[in-house]
Amino acid sequence: MAVAERTTLDKLNELFSYLRPRVEFYGKRLPAQPLTSLDQLAEVPFTVKDDFRDNYPAGLLAVPNQELVRLHMSSGTTGKPVVTGYTRGDLEIWAECMERVLRMGDVTADDVVQNAYGYGLFTGGLGFHLGAERIGCTVVPTSSGVTARQVMLLQDLGATVLACTPSYALVLAEALAAEKVRQPLKLRVGFFGAEPWTEGMRRQIESGLGLEAFDIFGLTELGGPGVAVECHEHEGLHVFEDHFLAESVDPETGRPSRPGEEGELVLTSLTRRASPIVRYRTRDLVMLIDEPCACGSPFRRISKLRGRTDDMLIVRGVNVFPSMVEEILLAIPGLTGNYQLVVDRSEKRHDTMQVLVESEPGANREHLALAAQERIKEMIGLTAEVTVLSKGVLPRSEGKAKRVVDRRETTG
Ligand SMILES: [Zn+2]
Repeated sequence: MAVAERTTLDKLNELFSYLRPRVEFYGKRLPAQPLTSLDQLAEVPFTVKDDFRDNYPAGLLAVPNQELVRLHMSSGTTGKPVVTGYTRGDLEIWAECMERVLRMGDVTADDVVQNAYGYGLFTGGLGFHLGAERIGCTVVPTSSGVTARQVMLLQDLGATVLACTPSYALVLAEALAAEKVRQPLKLRVGFFGAEPWTEGMRRQIESGLGLEAFDIFGLTELGGPGVAVECHEHEGLHVFEDHFLAESVDPETGRPSRPGEEGELVLTSLTRRASPIVRYRTRDLVMLIDEPCACGSPFRRISKLRGRTDDMLIVRGVNVFPSMVEEILLAIPGLTGNYQLVVDRSEKRHDTMQVLVESEPGANREHLALAAQERIKEMIGLTAEVTVLSKGVLPRSEGKAKRVVDRRETTG
């Protein structure tokens, strides 16, 4: 049973009439009359990242200070951060959604959750904290970083659940593998998000940490994690459609994508009160999946994120997503998921892409470099110079990994 269209339409109209008098930005752009069908939503203007910057810090807030109990924010790539607010009710909704996320991995009050998402302004740490406490788990709020201590606590406190970014999960797996005396871990499930990651990376995380890895999705603009999560089927992420409305649009034209077609994910928060957002262009590329899932969830799915429209590199006219390169590298035995793409422009204004990737100890690096180069040429159609490095050379990240260094931005 899918979420009833009628209910969603009522929630949308209620949201619009709530927002019009409270947020000037929306007062000017939302339709004056209620929508009579969900199709009409396509005519409502988008909200984009710049709108957050232009209305910084409080222009998009819909409640006065007395009702606001929390602010979170994420750093913008340039300039001012994106600010999102919560009423007490918003925090309850968030906690409920985060509980659902954890329940997808059958997390109960018996579980010990090591929460290695950053605590603070970033939504990840406190979001998971809320959900895990609501369930009654034992929360170990390590926050991100201090890897040696994370590794010690994973062993000593017997965490059964891990939450962190996927790139940091790999860092932890690597640090554990380097332990001389290693106690067996009790990890059972892990929840990883805040950056796109591939199936190849899933295999590495699952084997390195001995757990079942769940992809989660959320973003600061919509209040943080708790928008969508995988079920045990791992065939896309269920969107919590009673709180968030997902659309997919053509990134060029902004028109709704055709069924089965990949497009840019556009999200509306239906029930938040402090910072509701209408038709936010996430820049994430996904496919909406209408077919019911074997798990029986009533919520539609989005495909695992392939990349962001603003992650896409154009190198000599070829579109390259870092995730495409990652998938190729991880399919070559001997290479690891630690890589970096360096895009540069030569004096002749000829763009080059260099791939730096780490190998497992004892690997034939020259051989691996050639294999990767050939495969990239074959799959992406681009000649890239591949340099295979020994393990541990590339920088490690405690949060989101920096996969792309685009020197054209500074030299071009
Ligand atoms: Zn499912």
